[in-house]
Amino acid sequence: MIKNNNPILISACLAGLCCRYDGRSRPNDKVVELIKKGNVILVCPEQLGGLPTPRVGAERVGDKVLTKEGTDVTSQYQKGAEEVIKLAKLVDCKKAILKAKSPSCGSNMIYDGTFSGTLTEGNGVCAELLKKNGIEVVTENEI
Ligand code: SF4
Repeated sequence: MIKNNNPILISACLAGLCCRYDGRSRPNDKVVELIKKGNVILVCPEQLGGLPTPRVGAERVGDKVLTKEGTDVTSQYQKGAEEVIKLAKLVDCKKAILKAKSPSCGSNMIYDGTFSGTLTEGNGVCAELLKKNGIEVVTENEI
């Protein structure tokens, strides 16, 4: 019988996949080494929510997520988070390593909605839902 060793969810952009809003990636050496050991699942909540790549950058503004152009993309962010939690439950995930500062993946500190590079306390939409479901979320800077 195949044993489920609680796979770790990882932001796909940290693996070097070009899923970021600007069509690029942000590979992280430590994360890539971890991926090579296996038992990880790569996810991009924004793509899972139906957003294209590249796409206009967005930030959390209160309860909403707005693009730099002012388009409300909250529902796509929520959909992406729900898809990730569906997967997390399916594989009995206990831990996620998600990209710091992102409006989807950021944990504890995210961009403040002014598109000025300023950080504020808060979680990305997906990180928030994972935490609410008891899944530990850390950033690439904490491994
Ligand atoms: Fe990376 Fe997460 Fe943004 Fe996707 S949603 S590009 S995984 S930070």
